[in-house]
Amino acid sequence: MNNQPKIAYFSMEIAVKENIPTYSGGLGVLAGDTIFAALNLKVPMVAVTLLYRKGYCFQKLDSSGWQIEEPVEWIVEDFFQELPERIKVDIDNRIVHVRAWKFEIKSPSNFIIPIFFLDTDLPENAETDRALSDYLYGGDQYYRLCKEVILGIGGVRMLRALGYQHLERFHMNEGHASLLTLELLEESRAASKRQAVSEEDIENVKKQCVFTTHTPVAAGHDKFSMDLVTQVLGKREVFSRKDIFCCEGVLNLTYLALNLSHYVNGVAKKHGEIANLMFGHYSIDSITNGINVSRWASAPFQGLYDRYIPSWKEDNFSLRYALNIPKNEVWESHMQAKKQLIQYVNRETNIGMDQDVLTIGFARRATAYKRGDLIFQDVEKLKSIAKEKGAIQLIYAGKAHPQDREGKELIQRIIRVKESIKNEIRVVYLENYDVELAKLMTSGVDLWLNTPQTPMEASGTSGMKAALNGVPSLSILDGWWIEGCIEGITGWSIADEKQKHDSRNDSNEDSFLLYDKLEKVIVPMFYKERGRFISVMQHCIALNGSFFNSQRMLQQYVLNAYFN
Ligand SMILES: *Cc1c(COP(=O)(O)O)cnc(C)c1O
Repeated sequence: MNNQPKIAYFSMEIAVKENIPTYSGGLGVLAGDTIFAALNLKVPMVAVTLLYRKGYCFQKLDSSGWQIEEPVEWIVEDFFQELPERIKVDIDNRIVHVRAWKFEIKSPSNFIIPIFFLDTDLPENAETDRALSDYLYGGDQYYRLCKEVILGIGGVRMLRALGYQHLERFHMNEGHASLLTLELLEESRAASKRQAVSEEDIENVKKQCVFTTHTPVAAGHDKFSMDLVTQVLGKREVFSRKDIFCCEGVLNLTYLALNLSHYVNGVAKKHGEIANLMFGHYSIDSITNGINVSRWASAPFQGLYDRYIPSWKEDNFSLRYALNIPKNEVWESHMQAKKQLIQYVNRETNIGMDQDVLTIGFARRATAYKRGDLIFQDVEKLKSIAKEKGAIQLIYAGKAHPQDREGKELIQRIIRVKESIKNEIRVVYLENYDVELAKLMTSGVDLWLNTPQTPMEASGTSGMKAALNGVPSLSILDGWWIEGCIEGITGWSIADEKQKHDSRNDSNEDSFLLYDKLEKVIVPMFYKERGRFISVMQHCIALNGSFFNSQRMLQQYVLNAYFN
């Protein structure tokens, strides 16, 4: 493969590095891990995203547990290099000038992947347009659509201005980027000097486009009224193609991407099935998400793997051989990672957690369907397990989206319970969950808890980070865990295969099953059968770390989507 990039990867958010606050959560972290995997496999890729000067988001919890969010202050110039190229996009009869900032990731052998952050904060732009580079989420429909015009249309134009003429694939990581299809249609039409977009143009664009859909949650799919779309983009002949653009006066960006891609996938097997049901007559494949192992293995486990599986970074499949790592060394490395986390917790909160106590971690976006408080459904039961079977402590983190009132109430509820049980069970809610804290938590707890309502968790990736660090999950069977869970071997399910089928997401029922697993299986094994517990840890690495990584994931994108 020569070095001329062939794949353009578009994502509304990308988490490339600590302290660059241009992501909100899973989607952005996955985008970052995908790009790191491309670097590792030398897949010729460029990435395009937007710059957010008022970064997402600094979370504080007030004394009542209510979330207050502030922009993250950061200095763009400290991280990125400004490029001289400028492009223009027409928005609502205004000309918007766009520049790009470059961030490069480079392999030891000098293979490079550039990431371009588009920015409208230029003096020649109107104030409204300068502000498009402020926030990742927030603002109204108009604000959001304008940003998606910058990402999709502006992104393609910027790539061309930067000299990328021979891109073969445009990968839309979620529907936010799908307006790029409009620009590609226009390019195709102009190249053939046709007056209007033709079937040939549509086929041309389809050949180039790949689309990954990420969520069954309705709010995750952008919809704009055609009136708004026409106001922002002007009247375009192509909008009259009802088969591509418009159902009942609404432009749904997910359908736009579905209509104009030759390959579409969901992010886990089950999610692929759900997406096929959601969207009807499209053929949707699945590529299960993965995480970047160099990024997510804690320092103690990096050392352990370097000693026992020296090729683990170049060849993630070789983590399969983790079963041969002596149990005492796995435990030793885990205790080092755990100590780091417990020290952090105690320094931040002065709660006095004990590193020998079974520590359960839960860190997710605080939103209703993830049910962060499921483990508190019956507090008396939880207390009695801790009393009878062995002590438990709980570490929480996670931000609510600024507009998600229910999510904020969920955090507040958890904090109230935490106060009420502090004499029996230590609980903390750590502020400001980000990639650094995610790394500390997923590697430092003993058990990773996940309690979504099915089938809302398309994949989930934090449990994969935990598995790579030998931390088993206790999780509802949804998303990746349907594939990753071998009961009692790689972790535990809450509601098994049979129970899952009649599951109505009844929180009483689910919490009962959760307590049952803790009481009868996990807590006793942790305290009384340490060897068996460590065997589960080894299988987390060998069976799940070796597979649920972004190297395997990107190989599947290469095989099925990029070069097919
Ligand atoms: C990994 C990660 C996520 C995604 O975790 P889920 O399991 O999908 O909830 C979200 N935020 C941060 C900071 C992460 O590192």
